[in-house]
Amino acid sequence: MLLTTIAGSLPKPAWLAEPRTLWAPWRLSGAALDEGKRDAVLIALREQEAAGIDVVTDGEQSRQHFVHGFLEHVDGVDFSRRVTIGIRADRYKAEVPTVTGPLRRLRPAHAADVALARAHTTRKLKFTIPGPMTIVDTLADEHYRDRRRLALEFARLINEEARELAALGLDVLQLDEPAFNVYMDDVAAWGIEALHRAIEGVPCTTAVHICYGYGIKANTDWKATLGSEWRQYEKTFPLLARSRIDQVSLECASSRVPLELLALLAGKDVLVGAVDVATDRVETPEEVAATIRRAMAFVPPERLYPCTNCGMVPLGRDVARGKLRALAAGAALVRRELGVG
Ligand code: ZN
Repeated sequence: MLLTTIAGSLPKPAWLAEPRTLWAPWRLSGAALDEGKRDAVLIALREQEAAGIDVVTDGEQSRQHFVHGFLEHVDGVDFSRRVTIGIRADRYKAEVPTVTGPLRRLRPAHAADVALARAHTTRKLKFTIPGPMTIVDTLADEHYRDRRRLALEFARLINEEARELAALGLDVLQLDEPAFNVYMDDVAAWGIEALHRAIEGVPCTTAVHICYGYGIKANTDWKATLGSEWRQYEKTFPLLARSRIDQVSLECASSRVPLELLALLAGKDVLVGAVDVATDRVETPEEVAATIRRAMAFVPPERLYPCTNCGMVPLGRDVARGKLRALAAGAALVRRELGVG
């Protein structure tokens, strides 16, 4: 119990991509880039294992951004028609591609990534794909002109992809849905429906990650406007509790999320963010343990997976390494208290 995992991403080596940058440009090209990505995945796996993380990921080393890494493999999304739009209810500006025609998966997007990671770790392996609502919120659409319809189309493509990835020996498929914390009415109207279509018939464990975003200024400024209690989860958790998703990944460390909201997820595995990704300060194991203990008041330990609040891609590598170690050590502390460590 109290198996540790991470939300998904880790910082990339400086020889692969510009450090501490979202949408960081690659520093290699052609065959050297392919080889560099591969090497970076192996390093990411080793670093998680060395820190003591139980359910590992590829660190998202082979994609420039967590959404566009998938879209690059979809016909109907035109990357030559990039426009700058406000995303996440205009919280920040992003340059996004445009949907110009019917959507079709050109090829498996991440099969090679999963096969590589699977061949190089014996630990449980998780892989992350953007969820339908978050994809819809991270592009421009001139074809479907209907967010629900577009989300259901993407859910169909994600489902094709997810079945293939599960067949490669994946243990957990996670859909990243930060947009679930922004468009709560849409979550009820079509967000859960799109999630269900995306995971239909997928034989591995399924998870959804819902967060307050990377530790960038636009997000920390937004959080400052959310008041003393962040209750966004209150609307979505009851819907997720009734859904067919197995696991929910959420933010707890240094956050104003009232922890009693975790009780709304009864029956689900809960990936509790016990490491803050919005600061370079590395938590002590005791601080991580304290967050886990607080969450245990609402989530039984056999359903609780200590995790990071969100992806660590914008952090320094030494900081991320320290946070991985603190996460594993904090969970180990609590396991010992429970007599299972
Ligand atoms: Zn996140």
